[in-house]
Parts: sequence; C-alpha cells; structure tokens
Amino acid sequence: MTSQRTRARMVERLRMQGVTDEAVLAAMIAVPRHIFVEEVLSNRAYDDVALPINFEQTISNPFTVARMSQLLRAGSNPGKVLEIGTGSGYQTAILAQFSREVYSVERIGPLLTRTRGRLGELRINNVRLRHADGLLGLSQAAPFDGIILTAATPHIPPALLEQLAIRGRMVFPRGTSEQVLCVIERNLQGYTETILDEVKFVQMIPGIWQR
Ligand code: SAH
Repeated sequence: MTSQRTRARMVERLRMQGVTDEAVLAAMIAVPRHIFVEEVLSNRAYDDVALPINFEQTISNPFTVARMSQLLRAGSNPGKVLEIGTGSGYQTAILAQFSREVYSVERIGPLLTRTRGRLGELRINNVRLRHADGLLGLSQAAPFDGIILTAATPHIPPALLEQLAIRGRMVFPRGTSEQVLCVIERNLQGYTETILDEVKFVQMIPGIWQR
C-alpha cells in the first residue's frame, strides 16, 4: 500500500491529469508520501485527496503539489527556493529533489518539529526550516529564484515581491473564499502576473501561532 508500485501508479495518474514535467514526476516517485501523513491515514496517502495534518491544516493533494512544482520549475531547476507554509513537509521534500536549496517557513511550531524529523529520516539535507511568519519572507536568504505559497492570500505580500530574484517566479493561490492559482514572474522591467484555474487552499494567517 505504501510501496514504490503505489507511487508509480500515482505518477501515472498525474500524467493523465496533465503533469508533463519529468523532473517533477521523478521527484514524486522518489518521495514516500505516506511518511508525511498520520499513520492511521497512510493507506490513503497516494489517493488524490488532501488529508488533515492537525491544527486545522491539510497536506495538499498530489495533483496540486505536482502542478505547483511544474509551474515553479517551468522547465529548469531553480537554485534557491522559498516555501511559505511547510505543513507536513511533503511539498518541501518534492522541491528539495530538484532545487539546490529550499528554505521553508511555517508559523505553527509543533508542525515544524514533526517535519524536521521526517526530512531527517529521509536524509533530505538541502532544506532549511524556519519558525516565523512567512508573509514577511526571509530577507536574510533572499533573493529567491522561486517562491511558493501553500496557503491562500488575497493580497500579494510586498516583502515576497521584493525578495524574488530577477527572472524568478512565484506560484501561489490568490483569494479568500474564491481562489485562483497565480504565477508572478519578475523581469528587468517589473512583474507580470498570470492567472490560472480555480483552486481551494487554507488561508495564510499573519503572525506566529500561539498555544
Ligand atoms: N505544503 C503543506 C501545506 C500545509 S497547509 C503540505 O502539503 O503539508 C498550509 C500551511 O501554511 C499550514 O501549515 C499553515 O500553518 C501555514 N501557514 C499559514 N499562514 C502562514 C504564515 N503566515 N507563515 C508561515 N506559514 C503559514
């Protein structure tokens, strides 16, 4: 149920759903998704569904992770990537397969502790995790070739636009109750925004979570 074969089937499904980036598909074969969900849910880890990860958050479904990774990569491997909303760390682990280094920021401390353990177990060591408000970005590590948000925001945080490298791209769900997937690219002249299809994510929440 949690084998390489199950993962291969998931990837076949992703191909049928329109994911074409071989680097992303290879990453999804390589990373065992069941490690990132609660043990009682591990038999559903490879279904195309979002699953709860506690604290009212969810691990995004495999298609969404693949789609956003494909949009971020856009045909070539990014150097430095910033992810906002580490959650389970599954998207983080996928990004780590094809990026030189990944910085991932999460506002809920206990989620980060578990994720640190999982990434360690899988010996993924090009990821830096930070407990902070991701809406402020991570200026000390900027600029980033890619920025990905795994929760929705109605407005684009200005700090993130500033921290995007020239020719960098940012992929995120934009909106509140109604959301669309957005890609922002930075060039020498400024920024361009492309709006894609409707999506459904949890909301970004400013500030660090307190018990
Ligand atoms: N990629 C994750 C998605 C988790 S859901 C996964 O597949 O598991 C979105 C995550 O964004 C949650 O863990 C939530 O706590 C986090 N988040 C929301 N607002 C945030 C903020 N301002 N800064 C950092 N993380 C935030």
